[in-house]
Amino acid sequence: MKPSNAISIRRWYQRPRPLSAPDGFEDKLSQSVELLRVAAAMTPCVLAHSLSAEDMVLFHLIATKDLAIDSIALDTHRLPVATRELWRITEMKYGRSIRSVAPLDSDLATLAAAASDSALYTDKSVRELCCGLRKTQPLRMVLVGKAAWVTGLRRAQSLGRSDVHDQHFDAAFGLEKFNPLAHWTDDDLWYFVDTHRVPVSTLYDRGYASIGCDPCTRPIRADEHPRAGRWWWEANTATGTECGIHIAATNTN
Ligand code: SF4
Repeated sequence: MKPSNAISIRRWYQRPRPLSAPDGFEDKLSQSVELLRVAAAMTPCVLAHSLSAEDMVLFHLIATKDLAIDSIALDTHRLPVATRELWRITEMKYGRSIRSVAPLDSDLATLAAAASDSALYTDKSVRELCCGLRKTQPLRMVLVGKAAWVTGLRRAQSLGRSDVHDQHFDAAFGLEKFNPLAHWTDDDLWYFVDTHRVPVSTLYDRGYASIGCDPCTRPIRADEHPRAGRWWWEANTATGTECGIHIAATNTN
């Protein structure tokens, strides 16, 4: 059972948003588009789409610039209903598909045999096995043969992501990795979302600041960092906990 989260919600992304472009925004946007063009030239290249606001911005740019970057999303079979609904709406709005990448049935059987869902909250090895089989392994398989992948990581998201590179060789997966929004602030992100009417998850309006699988995501408290709602029972620190997919982001160049 999901640990209780009876909290005073801080509507992190509902604070006043900028009505005019943040300082340096146009230059940042140009740099991001240029980086996406460089990524698109490294065919085949994919966007790992989590349906986060960041990935929605990247998807919008890829679609409107008609860049040769396909999109994939990890369907862990534990996604919130709101994420599935946004997935459907996004494909309709842009006329572009987001390919579903699911765990192997045999891996799900291994997981079911290893522990119950509630063990996620009491045994870190179970949680890591779950992330490994539902997320990391499917991602690893889909990245085989790709030249590059694109993610929505930003340095402002957490201390643990403070040294995310714009572009680097991802030794963990063996291909080039692009983070075109690495230098964007929260204001940059939400200014773009508002001015371009980019659809985003309704969970942001319910106090969620970082959205993953339903069992492992909650709204954040008034005094918490944006990523504190992810795997909060393990490490509720400003650095944030990572599932393994982006661990290499901070220690490779
Ligand atoms: S985030 Fe939670 S439910 Fe999703 S794969 Fe990781 S442990 Fe499993």
